[in-house]
Amino acid sequence: MKTFYSPVHMQHDPELQFDEGHFLPAVEIPVRVEKVRVALETRHIGPILPPQAFDDSAILRVHDSGLVRFLGTAWNEWTARYGSHAPVATPSAVHYPPEIYLSEVESKLGTYSSSADAPIMSGTWPAAREAVNVALTAATAIRNGETSAFALTRPPGHHASAAVFGGFCYLNNAAIAAQWLIDAGIKPAILDVDYHAGNGTQSIFYERDDVFFCSLHADPNFAYPHVTGFADERGEGDGEGYNLNLPLPIGTDWARYEEALKFAVGAVKHMGPDVVIVSLGLDTYIEDPIAGFQLKSADYLKMGAKLAALGKPVLFLFEGGYCFDALGELATNVLEGFEGA
Ligand SMILES: [Zn+2]
Repeated sequence: MKTFYSPVHMQHDPELQFDEGHFLPAVEIPVRVEKVRVALETRHIGPILPPQAFDDSAILRVHDSGLVRFLGTAWNEWTARYGSHAPVATPSAVHYPPEIYLSEVESKLGTYSSSADAPIMSGTWPAAREAVNVALTAATAIRNGETSAFALTRPPGHHASAAVFGGFCYLNNAAIAAQWLIDAGIKPAILDVDYHAGNGTQSIFYERDDVFFCSLHADPNFAYPHVTGFADERGEGDGEGYNLNLPLPIGTDWARYEEALKFAVGAVKHMGPDVVIVSLGLDTYIEDPIAGFQLKSADYLKMGAKLAALGKPVLFLFEGGYCFDALGELATNVLEGFEGA
């Protein structure tokens, strides 16, 4: 299986993140992807290839142009006001009416961010922008006939909606890849197995019938993003029936997870996609420091095999997962399980 990767992700290297009222050491940091890259090499999963460059058009098919423009200038706007030694520009998490307050960097942060846990620093935009190149290069490989590909992206994307970033996410790599495939005449579905509900991806396609979105995740009653990801959110308008959330209780182990994953795979197959994008979060792992499921390392081999039962080309796209020392093994287990099935 070909993996697509770029070292540009390392330019987004936050030290702190704001969480539950406190600044804590950041967990969405470069070591996540580097651990996976090393494991892919060690276990000979396949070649690791650089991305091609894509222009902004695919991004603007999904995201609000104001958000994209702001992400590109936010750091400069911030440092122009606060100086080059400014701390990380953390969003205010206060939502101003966008039509009134969009002149100052603070109000733009408030308008375009959903939570205070997605810091913006000098390397954030280059890294987020390059992640899109990685995702679209992997999508190109699938379009050209590969039966699987792995986009080893960060920062992740599934919490970013059309006009709002947050939850460690800036641009929604999975949604951009899905839209790009549609525009190439290919019908995608998205299966999100991250521990957290893929609220950004859900919102982008919620009223559409051209992308079936299915997410297995922790019950939002106790897990981020808290306000969405519930089972009764099934899409609206044309999108009615094209959104499937499978929230699971805290402490979910493989037996429980497998049941839900089997159901999800069946539901995705039923929709008849040409390609399945798997938002591959690995924070379902028992030792993940910010999550509460109990999947063990060997379960990810079984997860990969279950995903092979989709019977379609699969574009794996890296999302969350914060147990740094396990991420390489977990990711390679999924990919090996998939290929060996
Ligand atoms: Zn997550």
